[in-house]
Amino acid sequence: MPGGKQIVMSGIRPTGFLHLGNYFGAIRNYVKMQDEFECFFMVADLHSLTTHPDTKELKANVHRVLAENIACGLDPDKVALYCQSHVPETAELYLYLNMMAYKGELEKTTTFKDKVRQNPENVNAGLLTYPVLQTADIILHRAKYVPVGKDQEQHLEMARTFANRFNHRYGDVFPEPQAFNYNQQLIKVPSLDGVGKMSKSENQMATLYLADTDDMIRKKVMKAKTDSGPVEPNSPKPDYIENIFLLMKLVSSDEVVKQYETAYNDCSIRYGDFKKQLAEDMVNFIAPIRSKVDAILGDEEGLKQIMKKGAEKANKSAGETMKLVRKASGLNYF
Ligand code: ADP
Repeated sequence: MPGGKQIVMSGIRPTGFLHLGNYFGAIRNYVKMQDEFECFFMVADLHSLTTHPDTKELKANVHRVLAENIACGLDPDKVALYCQSHVPETAELYLYLNMMAYKGELEKTTTFKDKVRQNPENVNAGLLTYPVLQTADIILHRAKYVPVGKDQEQHLEMARTFANRFNHRYGDVFPEPQAFNYNQQLIKVPSLDGVGKMSKSENQMATLYLADTDDMIRKKVMKAKTDSGPVEPNSPKPDYIENIFLLMKLVSSDEVVKQYETAYNDCSIRYGDFKKQLAEDMVNFIAPIRSKVDAILGDEEGLKQIMKKGAEKANKSAGETMKLVRKASGLNYF
């Protein structure tokens, strides 16, 4: 535990533009945690290869993820902000952990089953062992807290299982990692069409990206699924209405949310007005982030230095853990 602080680790795949789900599920927590914890945040480039084998866009995407994290308030001087592939110990720990992960439990993972359904012609071994690589990323720094969205809950459960298995077999090396959100509950930012979550590479017209222009934000919000409104006072909200209220709670003031809750409950709500208000509040939230990203992306040399410095911090921590791992698991012959 360097400096006596608890250790935090998390990552984002460079598979496209970051969106509101990445922000509220992950980055908002990163930014708050950087002052209280010893933080390791990475661009998960190796993970992206499981579903995005074409690497033509990879460099630009890696730069974008870094720039978007920094534009949201992450300070590379306070945290280790690095690229997964710059820490080769990750691959070594992944290999050891693969001996402790069983085919049956990996095949049952929800994200694996979803990916098989979406892409039946690319069911590679990396996809199957994705939760093992993710465990290696986390426990390589002996991290305790992992700020993630709700979609990662099962992966974190598996990380605890694999870490505990290692400890049982070879002796206590790793703490049990826990999913983390400042608001206690992990969050899922829903997509605007009422189906599933916002995502980098799926349902792009129903996902709000940090790079979207003001007009694009307005267009997407105005298309969000609604209906003709409640007919009975105090009715329960259908899922897709619950979702747009959730989005409003993320970016609008308490008074605005209260005003529309009241209008919903007394059946006077007009979804056209609701969506106009939500769109303007979204624009005000996203526009300042978007404009910072462009400036950061323009400084390629600066980004290189940030990656280098991040890799140095991550390599140091990884090296220390791997010494313990090799010793505990009997792989030391000199
Ligand atoms: P994506 O699914 O968009 O490709 P990643 O898999 O790279 O995103 O996840 C990066 C982080 O963002 C993870 O912590 C994940 O839990 C979080 N995240 C992704 N989508 C959402 C969402 N819609 N709501 C909340 N958190 C999310």
